[in-house]
Amino acid sequence: MNNQFSRLYTSNDSGIGCLLTLVLGGLLLGSVGWGWVVNGFFILGAIILLLPLVAWLGLRWWLSRNLVQSLCPVCSYEFTGFNRTECQCPNCGESLKVEGGTFQTLTPPGTIDVEAVEIPYQGLED
Ligand SMILES: [Zn+2]
Repeated sequence: MNNQFSRLYTSNDSGIGCLLTLVLGGLLLGSVGWGWVVNGFFILGAIILLLPLVAWLGLRWWLSRNLVQSLCPVCSYEFTGFNRTECQCPNCGESLKVEGGTFQTLTPPGTIDVEAVEIPYQGLED
């Protein structure tokens, strides 16, 4: 008990000098650059808070510029695609390119897609 008290006392004794250093350091910081540090923290906090909002707005702007909702020229199925890309109609599977806000077929007009079906040879029974 006595040992503990004396240790507390000595730590208090040396704590005064430490406290004085802290106060002097705080005053020095306050006179030199504390305001800048506080402002820096506020600016950093604002950036951290605003960054997702700005990113979300930027993404919305980018999507509004690049997302195209139109009809498939083959089957008139309405779907969305990205501008200046090639995609496939989810309904009929036609390869399309997105240009000028509409879907256009990759194959030249007048081309008829023919699917070849292989029929197994059964031979002549009769
Ligand atoms: Zn289609």
